[in-house]
Amino acid sequence: MKLVSRSAWGARSPRAQASYLASTRGVKVHYTGGKIDVRTEDDHGRCAPIVRQIQNLHMDDNGWNDIGYSFVACPHRYVFEGRGLHRLPSANGAGLNSGHYAVLGLVGNSGLTVPTDDMLHGIRDAIDHVRSEGAAGTEIKGHRDGYSTDCPGPKLYAWVKAGAPRPAEKEPEPTLRPVLDLGLSAEVTVPPGERVSLPWNVEYADPSDVHATGPAWFPKTSEYHYVTLATVVTGQSTNEKVKLIISEYEQSGANRITDRLGEDKIGNGTRIEFALSGLVWMNSQRSYRVDLVNYGTVAAVIPKATLRVVR
Ligand SMILES: [Zn+2]
Ligand SMILES: [Zn+2]
Repeated sequence: MKLVSRSAWGARSPRAQASYLASTRGVKVHYTGGKIDVRTEDDHGRCAPIVRQIQNLHMDDNGWNDIGYSFVACPHRYVFEGRGLHRLPSANGAGLNSGHYAVLGLVGNSGLTVPTDDMLHGIRDAIDHVRSEGAAGTEIKGHRDGYSTDCPGPKLYAWVKAGAPRPAEKEPEPTLRPVLDLGLSAEVTVPPGERVSLPWNVEYADPSDVHATGPAWFPKTSEYHYVTLATVVTGQSTNEKVKLIISEYEQSGANRITDRLGEDKIGNGTRIEFALSGLVWMNSQRSYRVDLVNYGTVAAVIPKATLRVVR
């Protein structure tokens, strides 16, 4: 648990020590019922001042001896120590304090109203803490259970009623980064029996500057790249074959070394569509092109094509 001690958040000393609390049946969850500035969600520096403000309100306006909560969970999974373990809270309402620890989630009824996943984890961290160190029982309730209030608000109360589950851990964000996004500015004709490298002369994106001009690109790092290649070929007669291939060349382009990813298609007399995708190992010492091989007896025409490479 990411505990913020009273001295760390600048708590005032209580006017009097709260009564000793041997054990409780569990925990009651609260919200502030007021406005929490939405900027708090992205700025943990705003959390301690809010907790101090709540303590001032409880001591100066409510006339309590200290902040009324046992612990306060902020949007960033920090748990601020309020009255703490084995001390009678005052936030649950007269007659209801000895039954449950009081844990506040730092959301309100305006501004920041939706608890972050980290806040829910923080509340759970506080609950686990009072169970293991403060002799709390297993009940998890809302302030409104047994007391006339809307606290802890609709979001936290729904979560409490669902058993206060910990949010699922998030999958790490995929780290795929765009390398290239290319196209053609005009149609390309591949005569019968020939192999032509598509002349990528439209550059939609090239953030790592791996594409000079013309057909070849030059990977900066040797690794697998994910390639998506889409094109249309027209003009082929029925039963004539074309093949689309991502090919590896020497850097100079003088010699083709190997074919990396390719697909054959047979013409149907109108058009052939290719949607080729997959992982391709690319070597930084080599260059790469997309070639179309025309095995037919008439010219194949490529009106459009796009190539996208990510890694
Ligand atoms: Zn409350
Ligand atoms: Zn915070």
